[in-house]
Amino acid sequence: MTRTLRSAEQLVAAGLAPAAALAELRAVEQRFAVAITPAVQARIGTADDPVGRQYIPHADELRIAPHETDDPTADAPFTPIKGVVHRYPDRALLKPLLACPVYCRFCFRREHVGPDGGLLTDAELDAALDWFARTPAVTEVILTGGDPLMLSARRMAHILDRLCAIPHIATLRIHSRVPVADPGRITPAMLRTLTRETPLYLCVHANHAQEFGADAATSLRALHGAGVVLLGQSVLLAGVNDNAAALEALFRTMLAHRIKPYYLHALDAAPGTARFAVPDARALELLRELRSRVTGLAWPVFVRETPGGGGKRPLGPAWPSQD
Ligand SMILES: *Cc1c(COP(=O)(O)O)cnc(C)c1O
Ligand code: SF4
Repeated sequence: MTRTLRSAEQLVAAGLAPAAALAELRAVEQRFAVAITPAVQARIGTADDPVGRQYIPHADELRIAPHETDDPTADAPFTPIKGVVHRYPDRALLKPLLACPVYCRFCFRREHVGPDGGLLTDAELDAALDWFARTPAVTEVILTGGDPLMLSARRMAHILDRLCAIPHIATLRIHSRVPVADPGRITPAMLRTLTRETPLYLCVHANHAQEFGADAATSLRALHGAGVVLLGQSVLLAGVNDNAAALEALFRTMLAHRIKPYYLHALDAAPGTARFAVPDARALELLRELRSRVTGLAWPVFVRETPGGGGKRPLGPAWPSQD
């Protein structure tokens, strides 16, 4: 039986890293969490293929460039109460925990996420939910973390029950890697809890067509059947999806699973992620090439997080007008 790999030793034993890299990978693992679920292991061919590269730690993660910061999206100044980030007038993030099914090597919250980090206590969660109840300008709650679908169905039900009882909450949104990276967590109990009168949008994170296995397909079909609206979010990553064919396959695969691509993010400058960077000029060239190849349904908005907390900005591409 395969299990989630969580250490350098386990990666070496599974043949996903060479024994010679053990000491370096141990040093990486001290600083940044590691987890590779059985569902993801089944999608990895080689360590540096488009799936392996996203999850298998690498010695380069210890090379921190001067412009890389531990809070690239600058959440800290926009935190009115623990677990909440309020940057835009009409919507706010609720981060009930900081654990994820897998730990992405390029993660913009990598200094904060981890298996035993950040579960809000009952009192902290209640205080955060109270903040939403007394902030009527906020009509959309975005559950993120970490990964909210790591919560038990019971705890998720508690959170959604409380939010749905607030009259000014019109939209629920969850950002998650679970449907693709750990689809077994989409249980019948979780599906029941996600079925709500209040519209619930699930923003599914995936970066390559190769990540979608048969179990992911089943979980996505079930989520759609439960009345959840599926959106896609991806990150543009060197060596993973930085060519037009890979992006086309990714977005077409999302459409095939009833996921509407929503955002393609430029990489945030989190520590030790430089090997994933794609220069802006190259990114815009790729997107220009892609636009003529795919249906508008497959077309996400390409955004970058403005350093210092300015929020997400669309980056283009722009076309010269042709009249
Ligand atoms: C990304 C983000 C949102 C959601 O932004 P949308 O453009 O609506 O997807 C909301 N709050 C914060 C703090 C964010 O970083
Ligand atoms: S699932 Fe999201 S929050 Fe978790 S490590 Fe990956 S990118 Fe970061």
